[in-house]
Amino acid sequence: MYLFKKAAQLQEFLSSRRERSRPVGFVPTMGALHEGHLSLIHLSRSNDAVTVCSIFVNPTQFNQIIDLEKYPRTPAKDIRMLVKVGCDALFMPTVDEVYPEGKQIGRNFDFGNLDKTMEGHFRPGHFAGVVQVVDRLLEIVRPDRLYMGQKDFQQAAIVRNMLHQVNSPVELVIAPTVREAGGLAMSSRNERLDPALMQTATILYQSLMNAKELMDFYNPQEIKEKVLDKLSVPGIRFEYFEIVDGHTLQPVRSFDDAEFIVACVAAWAGDVRLIDNMILKR
Ligand code: AMP
Repeated sequence: MYLFKKAAQLQEFLSSRRERSRPVGFVPTMGALHEGHLSLIHLSRSNDAVTVCSIFVNPTQFNQIIDLEKYPRTPAKDIRMLVKVGCDALFMPTVDEVYPEGKQIGRNFDFGNLDKTMEGHFRPGHFAGVVQVVDRLLEIVRPDRLYMGQKDFQQAAIVRNMLHQVNSPVELVIAPTVREAGGLAMSSRNERLDPALMQTATILYQSLMNAKELMDFYNPQEIKEKVLDKLSVPGIRFEYFEIVDGHTLQPVRSFDDAEFIVACVAAWAGDVRLIDNMILKR
């Protein structure tokens, strides 16, 4: 695997490769890699001639400085994992390399309600930072395919909308959520959970499964109330549970309201914020 810290060097490598082998797949990450990230690398390896991964803890998407400071960083382990799964190139830029003209630079997008609900509501400014970094990384890597996880459902919906707004030729591929044995969605932030809290945190997954089981008998509002009752356990500070149209991300009143319906949940386990989601109807 080739490791690049400079955008120009990565671009030089990719232009030499692109002539001989296409397509190029790109997996952007913030590191502290786990099987969820690796599933995206595997997917790209099965579709693309060249797979590029980036590890960049993007400061502009953290709405709390403490979260940025505490974000797990395990670069040596990450590199070993990427070599093992056959990733072709890793881009590990500095903040100045990604934002040479300052952190304020970037295109303005209007996402309507997509970035106002759920994560957008609880993490003001988060999606502006996500969109800024994805736009910039795509400008550097210019991949044919971009791989993201369903785990961050709202993020994927917003990036899809952004690609549409700029008429991008990049194909967005969304990969299913990889989970721990008990159902907890894998996340870099799980590294900060002690074993007891990790066990308790499976309640997020259980709440989603519960919603799926109840959907034949209750409407979304009733399900929400039942699930919220169950989420009141010591150690968990629940933030939201929404049943939304998977395209507009607006809450649905009935399961007949939309073709594509997703349940999304966010909660704090101790001082670690976790999110998860499950498709209820498609
Ligand atoms: P992150 O490093 O958290 O920014 O995640 C990088 C990419 O990996 C994003 O597209 C995530 O949605 C995806 N991802 C994170 N966790 C998982 C998971 N458990 N299963 C599948 N994809 C994931």
